[in-house]
Amino acid sequence: MTIAEQQDNNPYDICTWRPETECEGCPLRDRLKCRFRTGDLLHFMALFIGFATPAIIGAIRGGYGWWMLGWFAFDMFFFNVWESRILCSHCPYYAEEGSTLHCIANYGSLKLWRYHPEPMSRTEKVQLWIGLAILSVFPFPFLLLGRQFALAFVAFWGLVLFFWTLSKYTCTQCVNFSCPLNRTPKAFRDEYLRRNPTMRKAWEESGWQMGDVESKDS
Ligand code: SF4
Ligand code: SF4
Repeated sequence: MTIAEQQDNNPYDICTWRPETECEGCPLRDRLKCRFRTGDLLHFMALFIGFATPAIIGAIRGGYGWWMLGWFAFDMFFFNVWESRILCSHCPYYAEEGSTLHCIANYGSLKLWRYHPEPMSRTEKVQLWIGLAILSVFPFPFLLLGRQFALAFVAFWGLVLFFWTLSKYTCTQCVNFSCPLNRTPKAFRDEYLRRNPTMRKAWEESGWQMGDVESKDS
């Protein structure tokens, strides 16, 4: 892809979607997950599979396999419509031009909404917690009704590892700063916002206050 084509893909001029050559010298390089890396996507998928696989096997063994279609339908709705609007539409990855998402978690999801450079609202954060709770809890009643206690425990442990590992290794470096799970240090957030004027303006209009220290590279 040429530089001109890459810029056509980037109507909000988000640095995540600028040519990677512009990242040279950036102090955030290798400190944020600010550019798509296949390894980050595989890491996310492996963690989710570690939860979903024992849950699905347990439901099938317990005689409740068809109910998992309901879980699948909810997941499709959540990732493509609901979460996509309340969480992902605020993410720099979502700012790329195009109809599908190319990010380190929900890769391939539909982009039905416009990009929202401002932070998530409180209502959106509450909705995210509700959606994540449904996503996490859905299989367990069927595992317990089917008396699949060992697989229920393995699925529960997979769920714990999913959130624990994400929190430790992804949420501390993620560029969707207003997600309630995000733990990226303020100095890194400020530095990223300095490189992204569209986001910075929207964040400051929402009440965000930048720190004093400006990087020599910004
Ligand atoms: S913050 Fe932006 S400019 Fe810096 S490394 Fe990440 S994508 Fe590149
Ligand atoms: S919030 Fe996470 S899942 Fe959504 S676009 Fe950003 S990186 Fe992808």
